[in-house]
Amino acid sequence: MHGINFDNSAACCKEMAPHGLVDCVACLDEAWASFSDTLDPESRMDATWLLDAVRQARDTGVRKSDLLASAGPRVSRLPFLVNQLIEAEVAQVYWTGYDSLVLVSAHHVAKWSVVVSKNPLINEFPRRWLDIQGTKVADFWQAALRAVMGLVIFRPGITQAEIRWRLRSVYDRQEVNEIVHFLQTEGYLEMRLGDTSVGTEWAAFDEEEESKVYWFMGTKHWYQV
Ligand SMILES: [Zn+2]
Repeated sequence: MHGINFDNSAACCKEMAPHGLVDCVACLDEAWASFSDTLDPESRMDATWLLDAVRQARDTGVRKSDLLASAGPRVSRLPFLVNQLIEAEVAQVYWTGYDSLVLVSAHHVAKWSVVVSKNPLINEFPRRWLDIQGTKVADFWQAALRAVMGLVIFRPGITQAEIRWRLRSVYDRQEVNEIVHFLQTEGYLEMRLGDTSVGTEWAAFDEEEESKVYWFMGTKHWYQV
C-alpha cells in the first residue's frame, strides 16, 4: 500500500507528491526491485549489504569513514554503487549530516527533512534557496552559486573546507556540498585532490577529506552563472 512509511505513518509517496524525499515503503520496494534487476549478482550483493548497513543505522545514518572501514573487499566498488542508489529515480540513500557526513536510508530520511506540504505529504531537505513550499527561489540559488564562485575566482585552489568555513554563517555542510557539486557538473568548477586516498567519484566529502579537495575554475565562464 502506498503512502505509508516503515513506521506505518504517512509517507512522502511518488504517486501522490510531484517532488520530495520519498520514504513510502511501497515506492522504495518497487524502485529497489527494478534497480536490482539491472545489477549483476555481485553488485546486487554489494547493494544489499549497503542498504542493510544504512537501514540498521536508522535515522543516525552511517559515517562515511565507518562505511569504508566496514566495506572490506567491496570498498572500491562503493562510490559507484552509492552514487547509483542516490541518483536513482527514487533514491534509496542520501548523504546528510551537519557536523559529520552520514549516509542515511531513504526509510529514515524524514527525520532529516522538513515538511513543505501536508497534503500530499512532501518532505525536502532544508535549503536556504527553497521557499516554504520547497520550490527553488531563483535569486537565492543564484546568490548561493555566486558566493562559492566568488571565493574560487579570487582564491583558485581553495579547499572545500575553506569554502565551508568562509560561508559558515550562511550555508551549512550539505548546502555547500550541493552547490559545488552542481557547479562541477555544469563545468563551472573543477576539482583536484591533494591525496589519492580521497576518491574523486564521491559526490560528498567528510570532514577529513574536505581539506584535501581543491576547487579551481572550470571550462565554462563564471559570468554565465
Ligand atoms: Zn508510494
